Amino acid sequence: MGTGIEQNQSFPIELSQIGSAVIKRDDGGNPKVYAIKTKIVLLLPKQNQGISDTLWEELRRLQKPEFFEIVDFTLPDLLADNYKDPCNKAGANARSLMHKLEIELIKPTDPFRNENCWLVLTSLFTYAWEPVHELIEYYSQKYKKAEIIVGGIYATLCEEHLRDAFKNRIIIHKGIIKEVEDILPDYSIVPNWKSSIIFTSRGCIRNCTFCSVKILEPKFTAKKSIKNLIYPGHKKIILWDNNILASPYWENIFQEIEESRLEIDFNQGLDARLITPHVVSWLLRLKVPIIRLAYDTLGIRKVLKNTIDLLKSFSFRGRNIIVYCLYNNPFDNDTPETFLSRLQDLIDWGVVSYPMRYEPLEPRPKNSYVSPKWTSEYLEMIAKARRVLGYGGAFPPYEGLKKKFLNAKSFEEAFSLREPKCK
Ligand code: SF4
Repeated sequence: MGTGIEQNQSFPIELSQIGSAVIKRDDGGNPKVYAIKTKIVLLLPKQNQGISDTLWEELRRLQKPEFFEIVDFTLPDLLADNYKDPCNKAGANARSLMHKLEIELIKPTDPFRNENCWLVLTSLFTYAWEPVHELIEYYSQKYKKAEIIVGGIYATLCEEHLRDAFKNRIIIHKGIIKEVEDILPDYSIVPNWKSSIIFTSRGCIRNCTFCSVKILEPKFTAKKSIKNLIYPGHKKIILWDNNILASPYWENIFQEIEESRLEIDFNQGLDARLITPHVVSWLLRLKVPIIRLAYDTLGIRKVLKNTIDLLKSFSFRGRNIIVYCLYNNPFDNDTPETFLSRLQDLIDWGVVSYPMRYEPLEPRPKNSYVSPKWTSEYLEMIAKARRVLGYGGAFPPYEGLKKKFLNAKSFEEAFSLREPKCK
């Protein structure tokens, strides 16, 4: 969220919204929200790492609504203790608080379950494997005969890690579940959510070294139509395709989006190599406020520059073009210098760059992997610069930043920050 300064100390401040819900089917089989709770958490470092006891005491005394909590993220915590970087520590602390909320809500539902139940668990990114293990442990102890099925990203990418821990106690499902691909989710259980999340295709035609899509969704498949997956009353469509423009049906899909008159977010980015003047003329017909692209390796430089020029020539503003920029990648000769040169290109071309730190596919704490050509100090410099110079983690092409990056002779110079002056 930002950087706090008190006396000569500077420290990160994070604001997180966390929430949890329990959905239960009624006797007619209809899912209903059984319990829901959300919280806003302001995460600050106390003691010698951040704000003084005096200021902390004043903050504590402030009148706050019940859903608002101020948390000292330096206190010992099972998840956060794995991290040294204060930003990562704060993030892990927020995740930990969310798991506590989940446990608080799920505990009172224990009487609904018995030995005949089965438990279907999904897993997310590989670095978030611990809560998945905790839940399996808890339920396999409590219901010794209940069937436990685990799927999702971590389960697909790290089958051995999961199998080693739970042997044959669990069933592992790898990849997607084909049977639900064409079913409209029941959005009525989240009435405040107004966007339909849709995959019009799975897989990708590329084979980028650093990407897990080839394992998660090895076969490229595409839908001809998504009309049945747009929920009535929604205001926006969010596409999670890895590479929608590789779909032979992309024009059909764009036509349906245009007819829906809804705003569209190509959330995972568009492949610059497939953007032609014909594609851009289609984009102009849609309500697409942000175009997302990627500049993960220098190999795509020329084609990306041409695509940005093309988009601008069709009146897309640079500030509305966000380009993901991978770093800490152990492949493709990614070094601090080549990363800087990609950032310099983007700022020079007048578009927003969004650095994305590479995470390996094996389970380990988030942001703990350091690629051989990088150092933890350099990675920390990027994290700090994103907080202090960036906007929402991105680097928009504003004049001050442009000057700083383009005049820099080295990575250190580009990312060094002046210490706050003290009287
Ligand atoms: S284009 Fe994107 S989704 Fe496709 S393999 Fe490369 S990184 Fe993965």
